[in-house]
Amino acid sequence: MQTIKTFDNSFEAHIWKEKFVANGIDAFLLDEMTSSTMPVWNMAIGGIKLVVADEIYTVALLKLKEFEVDYAQSATCPVCQKAGLDYLPQKSGVNFLTEIFTWIFSSYSVAVDYVYHCASCGFESASLPPSVEEIEVYSENN
Ligand SMILES: [Zn+2]
Repeated sequence: MQTIKTFDNSFEAHIWKEKFVANGIDAFLLDEMTSSTMPVWNMAIGGIKLVVADEIYTVALLKLKEFEVDYAQSATCPVCQKAGLDYLPQKSGVNFLTEIFTWIFSSYSVAVDYVYHCASCGFESASLPPSVEEIEVYSENN
């Protein structure tokens, strides 16, 4: 089993799990009960994990990218309210190295971090909806 996405709430986890199941990809949620009954343990256990079998991991990752792009396009920017965000690889030194390593080892084992990006105002967030901290940091710098 390999984790393809993690969540901090059960509601969102089920929506994403059902997207995979509806597309013929068997996906399961791990640590859902622990996370739901003891939310304060979420950080310690790494949240609710959406997992798939090793054999379909690569296929599931490609599907995940597709879902993320669709999800971003249906979202509204929390800062400028423009509809439709982009889902892009994060531009940083770490990611540049990640891309090189991925190219060298030709594998999906090194994952690139993606962000939701607003083409209108430039706001970026690792998650949707974004955390309050991400909006505050962006507002302070712009
Ligand atoms: Zn915006």
